[in-house]
Amino acid sequence: MNKILEVKDLSVSFDTYGAEVKAVRGVSFDLEEKETLAIVGESGSGKSVTAQSIMRLIQMPPGKFVNGSILFNGEDLTEKPEKQMENIRGKEIGMIFQDPMTSLNPTMTIGKQIAEGLIKHRNMSKKEAHLKGIELLKLVGIPTPEVRINQYPHEYSGGMRQRAMIAIALACNPKILIADEPTTALDVTIQAQILDLMRGLQEETGTAIILITHDLGIVANMASRVAVMYGGKIVETGTVDEIFYHPKHPYTWGLLGSMPKLDIEEEELQVIPGSPPDLADPPKGCPFVTRCPYAMSACTKQMPAYTNISDTQKTACWLLDDRAPEVQIPESAIV
Ligand code: SF4
Ligand code: MG
Repeated sequence: MNKILEVKDLSVSFDTYGAEVKAVRGVSFDLEEKETLAIVGESGSGKSVTAQSIMRLIQMPPGKFVNGSILFNGEDLTEKPEKQMENIRGKEIGMIFQDPMTSLNPTMTIGKQIAEGLIKHRNMSKKEAHLKGIELLKLVGIPTPEVRINQYPHEYSGGMRQRAMIAIALACNPKILIADEPTTALDVTIQAQILDLMRGLQEETGTAIILITHDLGIVANMASRVAVMYGGKIVETGTVDEIFYHPKHPYTWGLLGSMPKLDIEEEELQVIPGSPPDLADPPKGCPFVTRCPYAMSACTKQMPAYTNISDTQKTACWLLDDRAPEVQIPESAIV
């Protein structure tokens, strides 16, 4: 498999009220052609900032790239002039967001918004772009697309807006689709339809997907690999099976323990006690140290290195050091 995206040691900060918030701190991961990589973690863990950095959508200032590179087909996106980025955005890398209302333009018809990219990136005429727009709306399951194409976002329901945004994102056959909490605002039935749609389109077009979510049910259904983020760092990565059945990081155990289990009705949801670290002043060692039930003195002093558990799984935790005590995976974390 070819690597289409390589994020290397990415660090992104924001200057806010005189403090530097270190939102992403040394994140590295790869994306292969046609795969779906899920990035999971609580809000504030750095997932969205990572995604927006790939698209170069971070407002600078207050944001800044502190370090690292983002290689797309071998070229570093952090160094591209904005003009070139405009060609990559939409054409090569598409993005869908949680809230279509904030990313759709309320003053333009859906048809015009789909056509924009087609005219700009694929040299279509207005007429061709209009016809292609109808085809795309049909593809994403919008009824009577010939009528709907001339309507404005406010005339669409929430689920339809989400579909329209997918149609816009996919219009130019991007090589990568970044979906940031794409279904969080939708009800369960529509959510399932949208995910089905994304899966189907991926099979058809071969787009690689980065799926950002806090919902592990969606991860299990959609992703082949998972990166678990906490406190601006990736603490564990692995295949879906490795993360769900053989997790090695206490934060991953906590996440799995807090996942609703469909077969056990009355079980109480485990919540990880405590709150995420203050990224203006992050812990010196492991970011999870203030909430981890297994924390040892080493954890407060130094960030643990990644241990390779397999060819595909690696985990940053001092428990994997030879000198650490044996710890059993808690029952509640086994899916
Ligand atoms: Fe817990 Fe220490 Fe592992 Fe961090 S390094 S997850 S604090 S045991
Ligand atoms: Mg987010």
